[in-house]
Amino acid sequence: MHIDLDAFYAAVEQRDHPAWRGRPLVVGAAPGRRGVVATCSYEASRFGVHSAMPISEAVRLLPAETVYVRPDMVRYGKVSREIMRLLGTLAPVVEPVSIDEAYLDVSGL
Ligand SMILES: [Mg+2]
Repeated sequence: MHIDLDAFYAAVEQRDHPAWRGRPLVVGAAPGRRGVVATCSYEASRFGVHSAMPISEAVRLLPAETVYVRPDMVRYGKVSREIMRLLGTLAPVVEPVSIDEAYLDVSGL
């Protein structure tokens, strides 16, 4: 089984900041600087924003209430390890392939 967490960095930010839930949210470069969108929330996707889009283009598409945050890879890594640990309670073999993806061996389950 392949597990891929959707909008993972944005989901962690919305989990940890309740006021940001239900709002367009971009994890990535600061507006006005060079760089790209790392991840955006579903609410931001609706405006056509996606991962790897230049932040300048995302800012043009998104409304004023959008939340922009810099990535916190240490925190995302901690959440990822916790999720991998939980997956390990479901299947005997869990093979992480990235911070938000894993393969589970579900043979015999
Ligand atoms: Mg993913």
